[in-house]
Amino acid sequence: MIYCVEDEPGIRELMVYALNAAGLEARGFPDGAAFWEAIRRQKPDLVLLDIMLPGEDGIEILKRLRSNTATSEIPVIMATAKGTEFDKVLGLDLGADDYLAKPFGMMEMVSRVKAVLRRTGARENKDILRSGGLTVNLREHTVTVEGKRIELTLKEFELLKALMASPGTVFTRGQLLDTVWGAAYEGETRTVDVHVGTLRSKLGACGEMLATVRGVGYRWEAKP
Ligand code: CA
Repeated sequence: MIYCVEDEPGIRELMVYALNAAGLEARGFPDGAAFWEAIRRQKPDLVLLDIMLPGEDGIEILKRLRSNTATSEIPVIMATAKGTEFDKVLGLDLGADDYLAKPFGMMEMVSRVKAVLRRTGARENKDILRSGGLTVNLREHTVTVEGKRIELTLKEFELLKALMASPGTVFTRGQLLDTVWGAAYEGETRTVDVHVGTLRSKLGACGEMLATVRGVGYRWEAKP
């Protein structure tokens, strides 16, 4: 879903139409107020933001988006008729992902949107580890098994992350202790076994991917 904040109705409609025609869902908003109202209900994948708007301007909106953790990661493309370098630098310094100088062609706008989505999509994928029915979101610190959320302790989460990040690699208990508990931790390697046990049972059907390598340690046996 792409949100377009643009006060000029003709341009706004054209943008939404062009994005829809390119297979992208899009909604238009005439000002910040309508945009904030919508964002509370659904977070967009990208925002096309005009700078010159009635009320709150595009720069203010961008600042607010970036300062809130719930919205700080949403990609933003700034669009403005004020095509000066100053605006451009200001926009980019505040964390805009790209910039469109008006008047811009709809084809160009769509291709910029797709390019930013590709780029930021790649960024998001790095935060997500997947194996079989298991999904771990490193940024949100969430784990789902077959789409169902499960709760892990911090150590269980770190253990899972360490194993999943290097599928097929055998980790000794000592290595896992160092990675998850820190080199200064003076616990016993049995601590690892206990955590592996609880982690495995919480993972349910996905627990079998956490394999014991007899006499050595543990390994993540990833499933497609
Ligand atoms: Ca405007």
